[in-house]
Amino acid sequence: MNRELLVISEPEELRRYAEACRAEALRDGVGPRQAIGLVPTMGALHDGHLQLVRRAVERARSAIVTIFVNPTQFGPNEDFASYPRDLEADLDKCRAEGVSVVFAPEAALMYAEHEQTRVSIGALGNGLCGAARPGHFTGVCTIVSKLFSIVGPCTAVFGQKDYQQFKIIERMARDLFLPVDVLGYPTVREPDGLAMSSRNRRLSAEMRAAATAIPRALELSERLFAAGERSVERLREQCTQVLLTTGLKIDYVELVDAEHLTSVSETFLAEESGQTLMALAVFAGTTRLIDNCLLGAGPRPRVAS
Ligand code: AMP
Repeated sequence: MNRELLVISEPEELRRYAEACRAEALRDGVGPRQAIGLVPTMGALHDGHLQLVRRAVERARSAIVTIFVNPTQFGPNEDFASYPRDLEADLDKCRAEGVSVVFAPEAALMYAEHEQTRVSIGALGNGLCGAARPGHFTGVCTIVSKLFSIVGPCTAVFGQKDYQQFKIIERMARDLFLPVDVLGYPTVREPDGLAMSSRNRRLSAEMRAAATAIPRALELSERLFAAGERSVERLREQCTQVLLTTGLKIDYVELVDAEHLTSVSETFLAEESGQTLMALAVFAGTTRLIDNCLLGAGPRPRVAS
């Protein structure tokens, strides 16, 4: 389907588009989840987002990218107001990738007057960013379930840079029987290893340089693990040391079971009872950055910009 990019701002118009799209696919014998590929984002698109867009374009007849800086996932002292926004440039990037629809609604349309319903998360949301940002994942799951509900049956793609978010959304889709295939894709990085993030554009030159300690800290953890280190404390400590050398402020550095996101014990590590996720959040100046790697899973994929 080679159509012009359609920009939609009304939820009901998006619903009608998705229904027509599935009906057309069905006539050609294509199932609903291959009809639509959904990529939820907050915009200020970079190559990490665009890799997800490419997966959606490849997998489905119509790729729908949503661009919405969701107010309910930001805490009162967080960067909602200053979060980067660049709709015109985002539309050009989506056009170049063959996206069918960009859905960019006003907040008042997604959270209508008197709305009050929120999605409640279980244990997967307790640690890591869930502990550091109370209410964050409730906001994320509420907006993502609204999007799933408007779009209907589809394949939705997410990045593993936000690993906890990916696991929570995957769980939510299963628990609530949402008719969506949730897929996760590896983190896309800058040539120096820093994970791409819309927030990177807010870093000063000094903080951008400091942030290179993040991939170095994760690489050190991978190397230590590969060399046989199985002490949770020593792995955390070594990683933390690297982050501190360039003046980053630590929010958390944690080793968790990659499936349940609970803290791992030395025995879990020693016996490799499951995959371990090393996850961290730091402040580079006032900008909060997150990253992670799976220990024992081979080298992290590196995709240059
Ligand atoms: P955001 O706009 O930050 O909410 O991200 C929208 C989607 O893009 C989420 O599924 C993120 O996990 C994903 N994403 C963000 N940065 C990257 C990256 N560097 N590599 C892969 N996916 C990413």
